[in-house]
Amino acid sequence: MTAPRIGVLTLQGDFEAHAAALARIGVEAVGVRTPERLEGVDGLVIPGGESSALLKLMAPLEFLPALAAYHAEGGAIFGTCAGVILLAARVTDGVDDDGSQTSLGLLDVDVARNGYGRQRESFATRLEVPAIGSDPLDAIFIRAPRITRVGDGVDVLARHDGEPVLVRSGRLLGATFHPELTGDGRLVRYFVDAVVAPRTTEPEVPCPRV
Ligand code: GLN
Repeated sequence: MTAPRIGVLTLQGDFEAHAAALARIGVEAVGVRTPERLEGVDGLVIPGGESSALLKLMAPLEFLPALAAYHAEGGAIFGTCAGVILLAARVTDGVDDDGSQTSLGLLDVDVARNGYGRQRESFATRLEVPAIGSDPLDAIFIRAPRITRVGDGVDVLARHDGEPVLVRSGRLLGATFHPELTGDGRLVRYFVDAVVAPRTTEPEVPCPRV
């Protein structure tokens, strides 16, 4: 099988760190700044940043319907932090007048923006993530969203203080933290190998619930 093509949404946020994290595991990502650039991409990373700013930049390009079509046609998406806010079914503490915020609704979770509040707006911790191995994963949370509901078809791959922080549903992976900011490439590797291009000739990499 040829290596999957991985894209990084380069509209806003820490996309350079994501491209560097992919490069560290030997994947040269393509920058996706317009919907046309999704052509030929098998897996897309939506980086952390500011979800409301991302939405403003996406609107004139009609990026949201393009992402929905991309996913419907088999494209995988890894949403990190602001990225998981965009993937969610419902968003609270958003920028709209009623407190919600536009989202793709592809991943059946609800999220509260900036859900850890001022006290813990940013923190680092270690997570048990059995899907990527037994060594804990360093995780950095920056004004992170909180996942407040997880739908039936969504697997929780990691929790922090009992709450889901890493979830997967089919070709969608969502992390409320920033996997690109540590030297540990295992989660990015998991996205590329197990979410974007699971082998069909061998048993799929198990995705244990925690
Ligand atoms: N709080 C940001 C938002 O609402 C997300 C923060 C992040 O991506 N690090 O989009």
